[in-house]
Amino acid sequence: MLILDGKIASAAVKATLLAQTQALTIAGKRAPHLAAILVGNNGASETYVASKVKNCEETGFESTLVRLDVDVTEKILLDKIIELNNNPSVDGILVQLPLPKHIDEAKVIETINPAKDVDGFHPANVGRLVQGLPTFIPATPYGILLMLAHFDIPTKGKNAVVIGRSNIVGRPMSILLSSNIPQGNCTVTLCHSRTKELETHCKQADIIVAALGKPEFLQANMIKKGAVVIDVGITRVNDNTKKSGFRLLGDVHFESVAPLCSWITPVPGGVGPMTIAALLKNTFQACQQRH
Ligand code: NAP
Repeated sequence: MLILDGKIASAAVKATLLAQTQALTIAGKRAPHLAAILVGNNGASETYVASKVKNCEETGFESTLVRLDVDVTEKILLDKIIELNNNPSVDGILVQLPLPKHIDEAKVIETINPAKDVDGFHPANVGRLVQGLPTFIPATPYGILLMLAHFDIPTKGKNAVVIGRSNIVGRPMSILLSSNIPQGNCTVTLCHSRTKELETHCKQADIIVAALGKPEFLQANMIKKGAVVIDVGITRVNDNTKKSGFRLLGDVHFESVAPLCSWITPVPGGVGPMTIAALLKNTFQACQQRH
């Protein structure tokens, strides 16, 4: 069993981006600029946004963090997005999800200029993804493709099972793995909470992407020997032995599943760092398109 180490693969992506950013600035152009909007102070969201900002700095990007109160009106949030859409020095805009219940998430996503939608959630960009056109690929599935490429994992003709059909992870992942692209050409089964005999589907998979948000859901009895297992899940569970009061668990029961796999991602240190590297790649791409 080998580890798909997201820290190693993301460091390689970021090193290339840093060199490309330095080349831009040497040529007299400005560095890519990511603007992140954080509504409220959810602990996990705070951590993700802080990490995105830190990674921008490490890669020579500019970043702006816009903080809004948890009870901010939808109008104020939409106006802020429009302001960033119109700001020529901003290349990429992301709104950290989830949003408070009184805000219409779909409306927020549709307000972002598709040319600055570095999360790749805008319907125009999703449509382009489905049609195999150049676009911003949502960061988590994109990060997984970058990881598969980094470790040279063959995908052509493989049976892949994706568990979870969310707009941000499972569904785009299933489309990408089935697309005619270097890390695609799989035969994909997309599973969800109404799937019958999930275990049977998983048992036939050469590649499993678990993105359901249920800690340690995938157990050894669901794995074919030699499978590649990619664990997207990150759930905080209470743990009084930790200073933070919690620990992070993936959707895969690592101890029992890992010995059966050819490759497996750890949690943390697997898909998480790749998601951020992919976001930075999208921001660089947005910047290049604007130049
Ligand atoms: P989500 O929107 O809650 O979607 C979960 C999906 O899993 C749904 O499609 C749901 O099916 C399916 N599901 C739930 N229980 C299931 C079951 N017992 N069997 C089969 N399918 C089941 O979640 P998400 O936003 O995609 O995130 C999934 C996990 O990934 C979470 O832990 C999240 O924190 C993590 N995540 C990690 C990263 C990263 O960078 N590492 C990025 C994004 C998300 P239905 O559609 O039928 O309800």
